[in-house]
Amino acid sequence: MANAVKAIRGMNDILPEESYRWAFFEQTVQRWLSAYGYRNIRTPIVEQTDLFVRSIGEVTDIVEKEMYTFIDRLNNDSLTLRPEGTASCVRAAIEHNLLYNGAQRLFYLGPMFRHERPQKGRYRQFHQVGVEALGFSGPDIDAELIVMCARLWNLLGISGLRLEISTLGNAQSRALHRTRLIKYFEQHHASLDEDSLRRLHTNPLRILDSKNPQMQALIENAPKLIDDLDEESGVHFETLQRILRDQGIDFEINLRLVRGLDYYNRTVFEWVTDKLGAQGTVCAGGRYDGLVEQVGGKPAPACGFAMGVERLLALMQECGKIIDPPVPDVYIVHQGKQAMRYAWQCAEFLRNEGLDIVLHCGGGSFKSQMKKADASGARFAIILGDDECNVQQVTLKPLREAAEQTRLALSEVTEMIRQ
Ligand code: ATP
Ligand code: MG
Repeated sequence: MANAVKAIRGMNDILPEESYRWAFFEQTVQRWLSAYGYRNIRTPIVEQTDLFVRSIGEVTDIVEKEMYTFIDRLNNDSLTLRPEGTASCVRAAIEHNLLYNGAQRLFYLGPMFRHERPQKGRYRQFHQVGVEALGFSGPDIDAELIVMCARLWNLLGISGLRLEISTLGNAQSRALHRTRLIKYFEQHHASLDEDSLRRLHTNPLRILDSKNPQMQALIENAPKLIDDLDEESGVHFETLQRILRDQGIDFEINLRLVRGLDYYNRTVFEWVTDKLGAQGTVCAGGRYDGLVEQVGGKPAPACGFAMGVERLLALMQECGKIIDPPVPDVYIVHQGKQAMRYAWQCAEFLRNEGLDIVLHCGGGSFKSQMKKADASGARFAIILGDDECNVQQVTLKPLREAAEQTRLALSEVTEMIRQ
């Protein structure tokens, strides 16, 4: 097996032992989203590179070093595997003129790709559920997005998440803040790391997002945007807080919260846990009023968030959430030519009745078949031999409790099992 082909580093297979937990997650999420009137949008995995450069921002971790970009060999277009979903969602909304019909509540769910150093909670292919409210300007929708998250944590059996919120103000207050930041960091030029030096004049806000521990003290003392905040953004932020309090949602204001993408303004928020080590942010989002125009559409306000599915599944496990793996209702064992034909008939009949049936394939003794029935987790075995065939009945044997097996007509099986 030395030269067997392996999966790409940081890109995981999700095996059946685990995939049912994903299915539970996805079903829960879809029910939850429809409870708030959000509708699914499905966009391609690959987009023009330019879409991400224009939306996420040139001087960001994602665009500078994390994108899987390649040249389409046939027409030399530069294409990129999507590193996030907001840009595609906005592109599609513009392309299909969705906002013509009024504001849109949208969501997507699927794989994203970033070339990062793989570690627990950080992969190169990972999955996000993203929720975008396009065409809404008020703090009410910002609050809705946050309140609905809190409901989801309950549905998933997750507790102990901390909500951090902040505001980035409008374009003017950010410009003012930017000038102050450049001045401050210039005064501490000697303490800046390589990334920060490069970003000092192109994107000083990004410096605040640095994960370098040596930079943290400097960042802690940097000027805060709240001091440069415009009045309207101040009111927006106050209203958001009021709705959250009304809804009984606890939050902390973290003025150091800077999202890793350029397109945010006003509200930003993150849901954070201490239970997953370094990769503690499970959900992050905010308002991005400039993005629709930036991607080429008529100006429209918008707000959204994305959550990391792998991190949430890990957190569910940490919180002791139990999800039962699916098991078949019945495993059918059979021996002999006649019995095999009868077994096929029984299996399809019971599936028509809505039961989950595994029909034994591959022959073998009754004993070895019964071992497989047991290992399948099925609640019952149906045993079919010449005897059963001759009288057109089945032998039903409970596998998970010490009850006797019984002989009965096929038409009685479903009722018996459902009891
Ligand atoms: P981080 O600071 O952890 O790199 P980010 O700011 O780059 O996160 P976003 O772009 O806001 O992340 O994505 C939203 C969510 O998607 C994150 O909060 C996280 O839960 C998840 N996520 C982001 N990158 C990865 C990754 N490489 N592997 C697994 N999950 C990820
Ligand atoms: Mg990142």
